[in-house]
Amino acid sequence: MLSIHSLLPLLKQAYPQLSFRPGTDFSWSPSEQVVYFEPHADDQWVMLLHETAHGLLRHTDYTKDVELLKLERQAWDRAQELARGYHEMIQEEVIEANLDSYRDWLHSRSTCPACRATGVQVKRRTYSCLACRHHWLVNEARTCALRRYVVTSI
Ligand SMILES: [Zn+2]
Ligand SMILES: [Zn+2]
Repeated sequence: MLSIHSLLPLLKQAYPQLSFRPGTDFSWSPSEQVVYFEPHADDQWVMLLHETAHGLLRHTDYTKDVELLKLERQAWDRAQELARGYHEMIQEEVIEANLDSYRDWLHSRSTCPACRATGVQVKRRTYSCLACRHHWLVNEARTCALRRYVVTSI
């Protein structure tokens, strides 16, 4: 079974272009080129591979919320490849649950507060409803894990 501590030296050696630093959460910082990991969550190697995948894919920013879902999917595919390289597998349920949380987030943001129709994102923080022409603002992002992509673009 993999762990953060068994994986870190392998990842550092394989991907010297990335830096790995302990942090309060698992995240990828495109501006610093740093993968942050929670040092006390030793069993969370799946998240470490996921954030490393974001780094390897050079994920920097997204302009539309739907693009974020695409980046997340790519990062999970890449993380799965990395896991295979270490003779491990990330369970599909883990990946789907993770993507579902993004889908839920996307769904709640895009639902028109006036008529419940699905709106379109016209700007980074603005959605518009084609059915009733209502416009609404959305928050930057749901969690710090999501927010990290937004930071570079403001
Ligand atoms: Zn991610
Ligand atoms: Zn509406």
